[in-house]
Order: sequence, then C-alpha cells, then structure tokens
Amino acid sequence: MGGEEGNGGGMTKRMWWGSGAARVAPVVVLLMGAGAVRAAEQTCVFCEIAAGKGAAEASVVYRDERVVAFMDRAPRNPGHVLVVPREHADDALTVPPATLGHLVQVAQRIARAIGRTDLKAEGFNLISNNGKAAGQTVFHLHLHVVPRFAGESATAAAGEPRPVRPAEELAAIAAKIRAALAP
Ligand code: AMP
Ligand code: ZN
Repeated sequence: MGGEEGNGGGMTKRMWWGSGAARVAPVVVLLMGAGAVRAAEQTCVFCEIAAGKGAAEASVVYRDERVVAFMDRAPRNPGHVLVVPREHADDALTVPPATLGHLVQVAQRIARAIGRTDLKAEGFNLISNNGKAAGQTVFHLHLHVVPRFAGESATAAAGEPRPVRPAEELAAIAAKIRAALAP
C-alpha cells in the first residue's frame, strides 16, 4: 500500500510540472517580477522609509494604509514634512488618481496640525516637484508641506542645497506634529 501511494505521488508531481518550456516560462516570469519589485524597494529611499526599515528610517508623523508622512531631513523651515504614497510611483503622472487625492487630503490635515503647534507658521507651501527639470531629486512622488513665515525669502523650496538636521531635532518636531494630529 505504501509503495502504491508513493508512486501515485510521483505521478501527480510529474503531471503538475509537465516537461515542456511552456510550463517553466510562467515560473521564470514570476521570479523575475518578484526580483524587480525587490530591486525597486532596495534602491528607492522613500520606499524604504514607507516600509519602515534600514538606514532610511525617518521621523514619521502620520501613516495609514496608503500614505506615510515624515520629516524632510533637510528642511526648508522647521516643520517641513513630506507626504508620500506607500506604493512606489515615480511622480504625479503615474500614481493612481485616488492615491493622489488622498495624498492631498493628508497634506491638508498635516498643514492644519502644524498650525496648531508652537512652530507659529504664518503660511505654508504645498508643492510637488515632478521631473528633473522641475527640481525633483527623489523619484518617488512626494508632496512637500513647508511652513512659511512672514518676511522670509519667497524663493521656492525646490533646488536649494540645505543642511541635513540632527535626527533628535527632527524627532522633536515630529512629536509636536503627531500630538497636534491626534483627535
Ligand atoms: P525634491 O527635490 O522635490 O525631489 O525633494 C526631495 C526631498 O527629499 C528633499 O527636500 C530632501 O531633503 C528630502 N530627502 C531626501 N532623502 C531623505 C531622507 N532619507 N529622509 C528625509 N528626507 C529626505
Ligand atoms: Zn519608491
């Protein structure tokens, strides 16, 4: 009985996998697909932040199933937040429209929350640089929420080299914004 069962199992295996290239091709394509996804995650700093791993850990102020918002490490002003889709999209042209709408809604909530902190912002920029010519340097879509203050230069946030701020400073501001977001 045991021998018969063993033979039956072998038959089932041979029938399932078959012997032709046609049976192998889909498996190869599937493996390539998974590898490509892993490569994109490994090489995109905002994918790493969205996944909450690696050296790219950031001070997160908000996270839901579709977006994550975190402190820009080289802020234009204190409280500068980036809102990004958790699923990689290069820019506003390739992201699903519903996700783009959600990004804007979350950016609005964050701008309101910043207004409730003691950062004393008097205005804010809500901007997105799309394409190298527009000043995009990280090719994972992001909305900048940049607190602004009366009397400062009106220069746009794009393209200016800015120093990376200490992690503790960014974490302290993130904590204020998280507290202001809380219901
Ligand atoms: P953009 O020039 O519109 O593509 O903006 C990219 C922004 O991402 C810049 O303001 C950078 O300071 C910011 N940035 C780049 N890498 C990181 C990082 N690892 N964590 C937080 N912000 C980052
Ligand atoms: Zn990405």
